[in-house]
Amino acid sequence: MTDPETRHARIRQKLVTGELPSTEPDAGLRLSSFLFAGAGRKGVSEGTACSGCDDPIKAGEMMVDFSYVSGRVLCFHEDCGAFWNDQRLSRGG
Ligand SMILES: [Zn+2]
Repeated sequence: MTDPETRHARIRQKLVTGELPSTEPDAGLRLSSFLFAGAGRKGVSEGTACSGCDDPIKAGEMMVDFSYVSGRVLCFHEDCGAFWNDQRLSRGG
C-alpha cells in the first residue's frame, strides 16, 4: 500500500501534466455533493486500478467514480477521489 503523501503527489502531478482532467465531471458530482465533499458516485470495487494513484482498488474496497460525456470514466479510492476533487477545484477548473 502506497502511503497517502505519495499517492497525493501522483495525483497532483497528473493534474499538472493533464493526465487527470481538471474540468468538472458531467456525472457523479452535482447530485452527490451531500454524500461527502465533492464526491462522485460511490460503489464497491470489483478490482480495478485507481485513476489517481495507479494502485489497485481491491475487490470489496469502497471506490468513487466520475464520468464525462466523452465517455471517460475515472475510478478512484475514496481518499484519492476526494483529493483529486479538492486539487481540481483549487486550480480553478
Ligand atoms: Zn488511489
